[in-house]
Amino acid sequence: KALYQGKRVLVLGLAKSGAAVARVLKHCGALVTVNDKKPESECEEARDLWAEGIDVICGGHPDDIVNPSVDFVIKNPGIPYSVVPIQKALALGIPVITEVEVAYELSDAPIIGITGSNGKTTTTTLIGRMLEESGLHPVVAGNIGTPLSEQAAQAKAEQTLVAELSSFQLKGTRRFRPSIACLLNVYDAHLDYHKTKEDYVHSKSKLFANQTAEDVAVLNYDSEICRALAADIKAALLWFSTKQEVEQGSFVRGDEIVFKRPQNGRLAQKLSEAPEIEKVLRLDELALPGTHNLENILAGVSVARAAGASIEAIRRVLRTFAGVEHRLEFVAEINGVKYYNDSKATNPEAASRALASFVAPIIWIAGGLDRGIDFKELVPLLKKRVKAVITYGQTAEKLLARAEEAGIIRRKRVDNVTDAVAQARLIAQEGDVVLLSPACASWDMYKSFEERGVLFKQSVHKLKTSL
Ligand code: ADP
Repeated sequence: KALYQGKRVLVLGLAKSGAAVARVLKHCGALVTVNDKKPESECEEARDLWAEGIDVICGGHPDDIVNPSVDFVIKNPGIPYSVVPIQKALALGIPVITEVEVAYELSDAPIIGITGSNGKTTTTTLIGRMLEESGLHPVVAGNIGTPLSEQAAQAKAEQTLVAELSSFQLKGTRRFRPSIACLLNVYDAHLDYHKTKEDYVHSKSKLFANQTAEDVAVLNYDSEICRALAADIKAALLWFSTKQEVEQGSFVRGDEIVFKRPQNGRLAQKLSEAPEIEKVLRLDELALPGTHNLENILAGVSVARAAGASIEAIRRVLRTFAGVEHRLEFVAEINGVKYYNDSKATNPEAASRALASFVAPIIWIAGGLDRGIDFKELVPLLKKRVKAVITYGQTAEKLLARAEEAGIIRRKRVDNVTDAVAQARLIAQEGDVVLLSPACASWDMYKSFEERGVLFKQSVHKLKTSL
């Protein structure tokens, strides 16, 4: 904690995590300035921070905000490296880090870090539950809920921080070293920020960069990128796979999930009491739907076992954990039609997972912010699973064109998610699934994917009462 004592720290970006890290560092004795280009009227926490004795400058980046007296720049993960103050800091050789790095430096508790293009929140939540159920007192933080630095500063050595991490956060780490690191998958998401896939993969790989043989890395054996990354990882490896048996880690054997512990090393010793292959649960006993979620479950099992969760606790959680809001969330059944809210599917990969999760004919509601993606990869699934497509938002026309390509006759453009539900109801027949899985971000029309999902659910519930 002495690392920041008396140091000059510039926090760029006054979001929730920016305010949290500013407070934490002030508490460590740092001289903190927070700077945001937004006007003061939009910097909600500015006044509170001022009152606490933290210097806040809003409404732009003054020319001399980055100068040689600054010891660290802590950057909000959303701010690109191309902005002037960051470029200047880099030119002056000032470390530019993210809040996650600070959290690591300040935490007495070990950290479990979970990243990937898709499935982070689900897996992080699941792991938190498994550790909780085992009496291990985890603290779930990061992209979900409270900022990691705030939790890290308070966590006791006997607790475990379970952190959901984005590639943006990981890019700004230097010494960050999670005791257990989990990479779920790497897809072409977020290329607009990272510019190249190499940069994106590199950010993800930073999760493992400082690990040693004392630590554990959990990776997806079905991902070529993960397998390639493993060559440089020094931590003990645990794999998970939905497709084949792995040497050590979790996989499916027959109709059952199993966990196979490693033969050598520290982790092998820690798990030596357990049988070499542990039966976890039958697939038909899982409460969480969706084939993609099987990957998250298998990853969760490996991480939780490595963290010391008991197999019984893991089993109990898997029997009851039905998922997180807005992720393939069951909303209601009306006249034999099931409605699902998958508003969090903000890219085609996520949407394709949702589409692949149903055998029943799907009425698919999709659309949103146009990021220049062509959605071609969805055509085969549309052909196979979808009977009607209802679109809205910036990408509506593109998605209609894909639907046409897939030979779907029922295609309709509407103004918003609420109208889409009304339209879906007209088309739906008993046995169908109505699925909101937008394949796009929400910002062209909605504040967030949460707002979009809530509106969808409200419209569905209204259908119920209007019957
Ligand atoms: P994240 O936090 O990484 O955005 P979530 O757990 O919130 O991930 O899930 C977001 C969406 O991504 C889900 O609605 C689902 O459609 C899709 N998804 C979840 N897990 C996976 C996975 N393992 N592989 C592919 N897609 C997934």
